[in-house]
Amino acid sequence: MPRRIAIVEDETELASLLDYNLTRHGYETQVLGGAEGTLKTLENMKPDLIVLDVMLPGVDGFELCRAIRKSAVLARTPVLFLTARSDEVDRVLGLEIGGDDYMTKPFSTRELVARVKAHLRREEMDAEPAVMELGRFRLDRGARRVYLDGRELVLTSTEFKLLEYFLTHPGRAYSREQLLESVWGEQRYVTPRTVDVHVRRLREQIEEQPDTPRYLTTVRGFGYRFEEAE
Ligand code: CA
Repeated sequence: MPRRIAIVEDETELASLLDYNLTRHGYETQVLGGAEGTLKTLENMKPDLIVLDVMLPGVDGFELCRAIRKSAVLARTPVLFLTARSDEVDRVLGLEIGGDDYMTKPFSTRELVARVKAHLRREEMDAEPAVMELGRFRLDRGARRVYLDGRELVLTSTEFKLLEYFLTHPGRAYSREQLLESVWGEQRYVTPRTVDVHVRRLREQIEEQPDTPRYLTTVRGFGYRFEEAE
């Protein structure tokens, strides 16, 4: 299901630019001009994230954000502010308005899409259960630990993130590039070879015979797949 983004912005050119770019990245969007009644429209829409301009014709962006935080339906929805002046940034940061992030105009739409993605990913992580089991594996997200048959694995932070990703996405084949994007994110110095190195280290921890793995297998010419083989 596509995630829904509300774009509350009265400058039509900027609104359509955001609309175009977010739609292109697979989001479902709705542009609201920020007139009276915007809160009601947002409550009906139940977006996954709100891009909110500060200067709006009918309502003040800050007041609207306060109302969003008090709304039973919207209280937990991330709000990304669009600000035009630095004194607005001061208000976003200095007062308890309840915004999650801000961008100062003019900004790059690419950067905005990246921020939207990051907020929604964080939200997804929070929504997932802290402890989950998959066959002989137990993942404790809160403690950042993984157990195999009750024995704790000794993992670096990256190894933990990679194994966490495999445990939460079992049975699917991932290319090295997909794993880099999902696990390493924006870090620029990593290469597909980095994935191989970490997979090898993980295998040494979780496989009885790392050279003939039963859980973390190689998908030839593509990448890797994690499977819990009973
Ligand atoms: Ca405006």
